[in-house]
Amino acid sequence: TTLRPGYNHLTTCLLFCSPLAFLSPVILLDSKAQQTELEWISYPPNGWEEISGLDENYTPIRTYQVCQVMEPNQNNWLRTNWIEKGDAQRIFIELKFTLRDCNSLPGVVGSCKETFNLYYQETDSEVGRSLRETQYVKIDTIAADESFTQGDLGERKMKLNTELRIIGPLSRRGFYLAFQDVGACIALVSVKVYYKKCWSIIENLATFPDTVTGSEFSSLVEVEGICVNDAEEETDNSPKMHCSAEGEWLVPIGKCICKAGFHQKGDACEPCGRGFYKSSSQDLQCSRCPAHSFTDREGSWRCDCEDGYYRALSDPPSVACTRPPSAPQNLVYNINQTTVSLEWNPPADTGGRNDVTYRVICRRCSWEPEECVPCGPNVGYSPAQSGLVDTYVGITDLLAHANYTLEVEAVNGVSDLSRTQRLFAAVSIATGQAAPSQVSDVIKEKIQQRSVQLSWQEPHHPNGVIKEYEIKYYEKDQKDKVSTVRSRSTTATVNNLKPSTSYVFQIRAFTDAGFGTYGPRVEITTKEENAGKYFLDMEATVVSSEQNPVIIIAVVAVAGTIILVFMVFGFIIGRRHCGYSKADQEGDEELYFQFKFPGTKTYIDPETYEDPNRAIHQFAKELDASCIKIERVIGAGEFGEVCSGRLKLPGKRDVAVAIKTLKVGYTEKQRRDFLCEASIMGQFDHPNVVHLEGVVTRGKPVMIVIEYMENGSLDAFLRKHDGQFTVIQLVGMLRGIAAGMRYLSEMGYVHRDLAARNILVNSNLVCKVSDFGLSRVMDDDPEAVYTTTGGKIPVRWTAPEAIQYRKFTSASDVWSYGIVMWEVMSYGERPYWDMSNQDVIKAIEEGYRLPAPWTAPWPAPAHVGLLAEGPGERPKFEQIVGVLDKMIRNPNTLKTPVGTCTRPISPLLDQNAPDFTAFRTVGEWLEAIKMERYRDNFTAAGYSSLESVARMSIDDIMRLGITLVGHQKKIMSSIQTTRAQMLHLHGTGVQV
Ligand code: AMP
Repeated sequence: TTLRPGYNHLTTCLLFCSPLAFLSPVILLDSKAQQTELEWISYPPNGWEEISGLDENYTPIRTYQVCQVMEPNQNNWLRTNWIEKGDAQRIFIELKFTLRDCNSLPGVVGSCKETFNLYYQETDSEVGRSLRETQYVKIDTIAADESFTQGDLGERKMKLNTELRIIGPLSRRGFYLAFQDVGACIALVSVKVYYKKCWSIIENLATFPDTVTGSEFSSLVEVEGICVNDAEEETDNSPKMHCSAEGEWLVPIGKCICKAGFHQKGDACEPCGRGFYKSSSQDLQCSRCPAHSFTDREGSWRCDCEDGYYRALSDPPSVACTRPPSAPQNLVYNINQTTVSLEWNPPADTGGRNDVTYRVICRRCSWEPEECVPCGPNVGYSPAQSGLVDTYVGITDLLAHANYTLEVEAVNGVSDLSRTQRLFAAVSIATGQAAPSQVSDVIKEKIQQRSVQLSWQEPHHPNGVIKEYEIKYYEKDQKDKVSTVRSRSTTATVNNLKPSTSYVFQIRAFTDAGFGTYGPRVEITTKEENAGKYFLDMEATVVSSEQNPVIIIAVVAVAGTIILVFMVFGFIIGRRHCGYSKADQEGDEELYFQFKFPGTKTYIDPETYEDPNRAIHQFAKELDASCIKIERVIGAGEFGEVCSGRLKLPGKRDVAVAIKTLKVGYTEKQRRDFLCEASIMGQFDHPNVVHLEGVVTRGKPVMIVIEYMENGSLDAFLRKHDGQFTVIQLVGMLRGIAAGMRYLSEMGYVHRDLAARNILVNSNLVCKVSDFGLSRVMDDDPEAVYTTTGGKIPVRWTAPEAIQYRKFTSASDVWSYGIVMWEVMSYGERPYWDMSNQDVIKAIEEGYRLPAPWTAPWPAPAHVGLLAEGPGERPKFEQIVGVLDKMIRNPNTLKTPVGTCTRPISPLLDQNAPDFTAFRTVGEWLEAIKMERYRDNFTAAGYSSLESVARMSIDDIMRLGITLVGHQKKIMSSIQTTRAQMLHLHGTGVQV
């Protein structure tokens, strides 16, 4: 098959070419193919002659012949028509001819030749029909290979010769060929002129265009392939081929590959069908979509996940789509004080993945059911909070007596992608008591040859009642020989030690919650065997004064002088009235007042300071307002708003604080009174007394910054959570208040306004005494009323001697504490209910007292002497703390179900049968208190008269089958109110 130049070889070949066809040359001239006259130029006219003939196949052909052998000096030229060379570089000229040898021609003389010459002339266009020999370039002299062949019968047969010559590179657009005969007998049967091309081809998914061979025989033309549609070059391996001089493609390098979403079919790339994908060009085949995925279009590089199924970022497209696991199963917990361990079983459905881990979400919930907040960074998780591989976790450092919700969620690689609801297992727990904090401030009291006496401070956060301390000690270089001694108080003497030996001591506290952590190591070297009696161990200088009379004298002398100075100045100042003094300005007084009496913590009344600014800066830290961030208003104080916010001191963690502000337009007196609270509070340092962070006096607004007490004031808190605490929790609160008051009384501070509304509660249920606003002027207490003795007094909370002749002492604080105890046990009930202040005063004077609240598992405050008439008869706070500690230590005594007290509630009430004249029948009374639904219960149990009802105890109420605590409470408190009314009526002698 022959093809014309420019013909789309590829398309043709796809239809009917054999592979060899790729080698087909581009024909520029083929004399045989032409049926009409060639009309080449021949000169002289009797030289070459065009003669028609038949070829070996009897096909008609055009030939040129010359045979001027008889005459010498022949020079006959034959020139072809102009041949346009196209893009050819190397031209092939194939000649077919016959040539008679001179011997075969009879009578021929020396002029006969057996060769002819071949020439060419390059031109850019046709140059007319004249022939100029000199313009031709000789290609070769052509001779016949064989002129004749010997036939079978011995005759000589003319042989067709084929000669091929190659010219090039050519520089003009075309050329002529010329044949010079110099006296031979030739028949030019065919002249074929052609060049070679490497034809366009697709190899390795790359198309290589038609390429003309190089000009040299040996040259290879490098050709870059172009990837077919939807194919791309293989990285660093672009497709190349080489076109040889023979028109053959050689040495393929590199290749193209079908893009993602396409696969190879023959020499083309076809899209993957629906439901199939191919993720990378590197893959050979399209694959079926993996489980839980689909594609409804062709040519997909990956399949989309079905609804509810996902593919993690790291998941290759070849893996199935997966979903978040179901919730962990069988979550169980175990609480040990403030530590919880959780265990669970793996989820029933892993979502189709094997990367399931677990995470724990801890939330602390207030007593209000839905109010939960994240546990924050202080809670510890072991081994971790998230990424748990095993099905257990330990959670430590939870707050004591707090409610928590713990959620365990199973997560896998697609959990974060899923927007469906989280599935988790959850438990709600309530923690127990926390272990006590570290024991620090260990003092070496006495160091002897064979014994050491130590004393220490109670831990900052006892978190319960400390039952005993454990003192562990060992010889410094014998760590593994540890001994321990125990002590119930904060001192201990360790005996049987070796003289002049270094010992290490560490102390820890023990409560119901277990041991706290050991405090820091204290190293002590016992005395030498024969050291002198008055040898002073340098380490024990301060504390071994007992042994050293000199020290005692010195200390006493210094203390004495200071007391004297203090008294003198106290006297002078006491007489001065608020004003400005020179001495003040010069700081003389400050010098003395900055003295602290060794070993004694005494409250100093800020009013004794001439300049209240000095007092405030003596006892309170001045804070930079920029460290304080006010967040929201939480209450109203006497002098302005109370806000919550954060305090961030340089180099410290920010803490939640309450900020009391002084409203604008204050008078100087108001400012002084406002800051007075800080001057008082700043002197205290006790876990049950609200802690002052500092003040802002140099800027506006003037602020007092106090530790934040999340649950606000105790009375409101109890009312909000009516009936929700265990007796132990209530007693724990009371113990805290008593401990705070013990501390204040030891400091010599009389509170004067102790009441549940002045106790603040933090998130940990720790109660702290607060409200030190000029306690002697109770302007800020709405409960305070003017009494006949002058001044405002919160009558219901105040001891009779304080009401009558303003004798405020720690003993009168104990009375107030008795009222607080009653408030706590009755969940914030108003003392003496709705009796008027005047009636309360009268009733108290006549010896009547509050009865025990119906919840109290112990006698009324009056019975334990808290409300004793004489101040001296009332117990001290120290004793109250002791009694409450004992109760907590023996919780069995408190396990009595709430309200099962069978003891007569008040002797008064026993003597005076209640008069229910307000109601005529039990039914009427029940109706009045909206409890008529229990009418039948009362009747069935035989409580037909109001008298019998008035004697009912909580046990009786429960026996009626009234199970709702709220209803029990309502009924019981109505019965008590009625009794109290009786108390009042009887006390004032009014007969109804
Ligand atoms: P006071 O002026 O001290 O009676 O405070 C007014 C109200 O502000 C109180 O009843 C509390 O509700 C609230 N409050 C005062 N101090 C704090 C505090 N330290 N933490 C939280 N709330 C407080």
